[in-house]
Amino acid sequence: MYLHSHHSPLSVMNDTARSILHTLDVSKDDSVISGESGDDVVRDFKKLDITTPVDDEDYAEAAKTIIHHSQENAMANEISAPYELPHFPIEVHESRKAIQKKLCTRVQKDFEDKKSHIGTELEDDILSQISEFDYVPHYQRVNVSGEDTSGVPLEDLKQAAQLIQEALKLRQFYMHYAKQSFPTVTSRFLKPQNTEQAATPGECPYDIHVDEKDPWNRDFPEDLNYILNTEDGVIQVYRTKEDVEDGRRLDYPFPPLSTFVADMNLICAMITDGPLKSFCYRRLSYLYLKYQLHVLLNEMTELTAQKAVPHRDFYNIRKVDTHVHAASCMNQKHLLRFIKRTMKKCADEVVSVSGDKSLTLTQWMISDKMVTDSMNFQVFDSLNLTAYDLSVDVLDVHADRNTFHRFDKFNAKYNPIGESRLREIFLKSDNFVEGKYFAHILKEVMSDLEESKYQNAELRLSIYGRKRDEWDKLAKWAVKHNVFSANNRWVIQIPRLYDIYKSNNLVNNFQEILENIFMPLFEATNNPSSHPELYMFLKYVTGFDSVDDESKPENPMFDKDVPLPSAWSEEENPAYNYYLYYMYANMCVLNCLRKERKMNTFVLRPHCGEAGPVQHLVGGFLLSENISHGLLLRKVPVLQYLYYLSQIGIAMSPLSNNSLFLNYHRNPLPEYLSRGLCISLSTDDPLQFHFTKEPLMEEYSIAAQVWKLSSCDMCELARNSVLMSGFPSSVKKHWLGPNCMKEGIAGNDITRTNVPDIRVAYRAETLLEELSTIFSALADTATPVPTPK
Ligand SMILES: [Zn+2]
Repeated sequence: MYLHSHHSPLSVMNDTARSILHTLDVSKDDSVISGESGDDVVRDFKKLDITTPVDDEDYAEAAKTIIHHSQENAMANEISAPYELPHFPIEVHESRKAIQKKLCTRVQKDFEDKKSHIGTELEDDILSQISEFDYVPHYQRVNVSGEDTSGVPLEDLKQAAQLIQEALKLRQFYMHYAKQSFPTVTSRFLKPQNTEQAATPGECPYDIHVDEKDPWNRDFPEDLNYILNTEDGVIQVYRTKEDVEDGRRLDYPFPPLSTFVADMNLICAMITDGPLKSFCYRRLSYLYLKYQLHVLLNEMTELTAQKAVPHRDFYNIRKVDTHVHAASCMNQKHLLRFIKRTMKKCADEVVSVSGDKSLTLTQWMISDKMVTDSMNFQVFDSLNLTAYDLSVDVLDVHADRNTFHRFDKFNAKYNPIGESRLREIFLKSDNFVEGKYFAHILKEVMSDLEESKYQNAELRLSIYGRKRDEWDKLAKWAVKHNVFSANNRWVIQIPRLYDIYKSNNLVNNFQEILENIFMPLFEATNNPSSHPELYMFLKYVTGFDSVDDESKPENPMFDKDVPLPSAWSEEENPAYNYYLYYMYANMCVLNCLRKERKMNTFVLRPHCGEAGPVQHLVGGFLLSENISHGLLLRKVPVLQYLYYLSQIGIAMSPLSNNSLFLNYHRNPLPEYLSRGLCISLSTDDPLQFHFTKEPLMEEYSIAAQVWKLSSCDMCELARNSVLMSGFPSSVKKHWLGPNCMKEGIAGNDITRTNVPDIRVAYRAETLLEELSTIFSALADTATPVPTPK
């Protein structure tokens, strides 16, 4: 086993920084920034005297030098403008080059050192013995010394620490029941003895082997013939009929509604607690500033580390579009060309039948039935629209300045030419042509992904819960048209539309929706032969999303006396968290059954905190593995800090926000990234927001340019996107390195991720330090940092 040898404590960078500080005459011995040595740092804040009076003579001398220098510059410009003369004498240049060279060699050596044990996948047994302490990279660490670093009175710190620990325990509890992940480092602090609580982040308990050539193979496990029964909105499983009579259901536990209501109220009270708010706000500010210092001191080393890796760069690292809707995953030009091509190729195909009258695609496109109530009628009809006439402008699917804060107008953009029938025929999986066109265009998008090799997506398909056969239809569609790609996994989005179905008499109560959504999943898990296509399709489903306009008026709080789903028959839509809880509860039971059957389990990944009440983010914190958007965390420091400590994945889409809810320059992504929240970049709706063939790259590109992200930042975002995605762990290991499930730098393989160990180490050490601050505050004696097993 490789043992880390300690290198000389004073690094090159450290020397340089020190010599600069010395020249500036502010440092001497009192420094708050310490390098790796840290020996000579005075461990007391108060000793730092930044107002050290500067000697008058020194001052005059310095001023003279500066004036002289600028005069020289001016002269130089006069004589030989527009050429620029070097500002520094040649010796300075030379010594800089030497430093850079030295740095390069050192990084190269570090890289070789690490490569020697993270090289091949063959040495799995050796690799599994490596812990994060075996390899520690050199960099300038930002340390704050002194006994109590929180900056608040001890009493406040203790109180805050208690509340935060309570909240983290709650999340661990909910993650555990749903078989969702919770970071190992945080659970080590919560329960140093027992690390087996929740799954490791990114780990899928059962690896589903996918044969790319035969994704729909039909070797089913045998049927169990268990009895399924819905009780209080949650489907329960019984072994036999007798068990149902005796009320002996299988022990698949989940937290009851009353517990959830109590926990939600507790967290809601916490986020408004004044002292806790200040505490979290201060910690977040500290994290932000610490990161700025980290970048200031290590930017060059990080870049050098990236340069030292052969072959790998931002373009050929894996990235996952962690939040994108299938019905809008193509860009507008792609959809336009697809419609034109189909209008030519399938002109005589029957696409619609009403009564005994059938319409071909051509007839249907010009029939006046399709243009009943919109202004488009005249334009469309008088143009007698043919494939030639169609343009992106006519299609009119792009979001524009009129959609800002108008989710209704944005929703209308899903209809090409403002016509829901076009959406019906081209962008739905359940229609007269059995979703043929939709399948084809999705397959084109997927083959573009495959061609790019390094880009992947998690496309969202809808299940509404209006009818029981929706799942089967969707699965049959996928199997029939072979809508499968190794570069894609499905997420199922469930719109919160109970009020609409109810007013149209499609359902009687909320429980019917839940049953329509979950019963087929239980049946396919229980008796695969009863839903063969669905059983196969579910192998490629990673989880559930909850979607709709979050800013719709609702009463976000409810108490334990809220009507049960079977009694929810009023017109009003249930609250966001009510939806989320029942999705979560059913998922808990379903996952238990699936885990027992060695099938893949699901996770909850709702749209959360895009707009509307902040209580949505409380539900997200307790119930979901990761969320999309999370914009409102910027207004709730307590929750933001909790999301940081539990490293909840947040798929952010700043371009989508820019068109709908928040201007680009106000987007909190750069702050979240600085503080170390686990975020990724995603596109949401390329059809509405993007212009190019590679929408995910467009998203990265704009973010990089507006926020001046470094190559290291971009690679970190890409690595996060893979880790938080629902791809099987075998795939993630292939993409990120065989150790990628390990925490800290042990889990990083720069030859695949292009993320320097320095960045990963900085994140891991910072999180560890934060957790130590919280957890040692309550202990009588300082708790030693628990080490991994
Ligand atoms: Zn979305």
